[in-house]
Amino acid sequence: MLRYTKRKPRGYRNAYIIVRWLNETQGRTGNSRVARLLETANKLGGIVKSGQLPAVNLLTWRPAGNKLQLKNLRKATRLANILEKYLSRYKVRPELVPNMKGHWYARWRPTTKHGQTWITVSADGDTYSFGEEDILLNVLDLAKEGKLQGIQRCDRCRRWYFAFVQHQRYCDRSCQQSNFRTNPKFKLKRKHYMRGYRREEHERNRQAKLKRRVRAGL
Ligand SMILES: [Zn+2]
Repeated sequence: MLRYTKRKPRGYRNAYIIVRWLNETQGRTGNSRVARLLETANKLGGIVKSGQLPAVNLLTWRPAGNKLQLKNLRKATRLANILEKYLSRYKVRPELVPNMKGHWYARWRPTTKHGQTWITVSADGDTYSFGEEDILLNVLDLAKEGKLQGIQRCDRCRRWYFAFVQHQRYCDRSCQQSNFRTNPKFKLKRKHYMRGYRREEHERNRQAKLKRRVRAGL
């Protein structure tokens, strides 16, 4: 489970809020809207990487690449259209607020409120409320920092978490370990290991007994 700490890497605050919101509003309409948006964005992000898409022929402006790259391009176009559709549901407006030191807060404010999916989060000594539209803005900020693919769902308990390493598949150690334990491959490995261990233990005991008898002059 993701915890809020004072020392945090870049994008951590956004990720923390998104993960909490996703886990606390599960089963509500707004939640699945954001979940679908995230899944689509991460799928698209997974394709748009160097080497996976065709290059563009500069004379004809046609994509030039192998079969897989061309297939990826069609898939990416389809996903980009879906993402655009999901995003077009939200309306935001710019807001400019001065502070005492002469700086300005420039930010986006949602104008549509889907409601019903509010959570409150305490961070840095303050309490904030987050609705679906606020979470969307957090998602956009995290995407700008290149950390969006870190928002993932646990393979075992289906809770959302933020992955610090790319190959992470579980929300925490206990999920990872219990998944290992129920995995048939792991079970078999463990069985063989225990059998070998017991055999060695038996042998060790036998040797020790023998030594003791020798020492006692028996
Ligand atoms: Zn889990």
